[in-house]
Amino acid sequence: MTDRVAEEVGRQYDRLTEDLAVFMGDDLQQGYSAHLGYWDTPESRATFQEAMDRLTDLMTERLRIGPGSRLLDVGCGAGAPAARIALRTGAEVTGVSVSQEQIALADALARTLSLTDRLSFSRADAMRLPYPDASFDAVLALESMQHMPDRAQVLREMRRVVRPGGRIVLTDFYDRLPPVPVAPESMHATTLSPDDYPPLLRSLDLRLVELLDITAETVPRSLACLAEVAQGLDLDLDAAAGLGYYIVVATAHRSPADGPGARGAA
Ligand code: SAH
Repeated sequence: MTDRVAEEVGRQYDRLTEDLAVFMGDDLQQGYSAHLGYWDTPESRATFQEAMDRLTDLMTERLRIGPGSRLLDVGCGAGAPAARIALRTGAEVTGVSVSQEQIALADALARTLSLTDRLSFSRADAMRLPYPDASFDAVLALESMQHMPDRAQVLREMRRVVRPGGRIVLTDFYDRLPPVPVAPESMHATTLSPDDYPPLLRSLDLRLVELLDITAETVPRSLACLAEVAQGLDLDLDAAAGLGYYIVVATAHRSPADGPGARGAA
């Protein structure tokens, strides 16, 4: 892995994992999710952990996978979402992250759960995925797109490794207010307007299935929880209140090589 941005982001997540180890102690061995929570209603009493799992489950429903399916989790963090998906769907899940510390934790989690036969992790850059064409039934990117310096390149790689008709399910951030830096520069976090996704996907021969704004269900309450639990996080939570958050579901078209009429049949 040689890309400078990927290296730097990986180092930031290594550092964050070390900080969390101090904060969480032995609990860290259970893995952790590093994404926003989803609360169905303002009255919902779900904890942050439950709300994070709820978002993982909303993504899982959209992947359309089951026993025997192969899923790639791009930007897998410490592996908790991948483990949950493997347990709930029966699918074989491969996760990639640029942080070696996270991969070590994720591997340990797979061993603890006795899931190493169908839950595995590798340090790899999403911009250059080390997998053959059409080797997965679906691809997930749960809160990792914001770190990718070139979203088009990542989507191209996702399209290459997913089978024709397979789903790509991701979340991404946009600015609801004039942008203010939220994360340190070394996190290389950027936003993209949801309006930019349809043309971006079209240009890559991907078909948009769903674009869903989930800002109200995620951002305000997640930030309130983060303010309580993680003073050490190097995030500007006031600036983050101006962020919007959304889910994108796309399918890979069949390639023209699949024969006449195959295009768009997904
Ligand atoms: N999906 C996980 C982690 C989200 S945090 C969860 O929900 O818990 C963002 C993740 O993206 C981190 O694991 C980080 O290492 C990963 N990431 C950032 N840039 C990446 C890149 N270029 N290639 C692969 N993973 C990347």
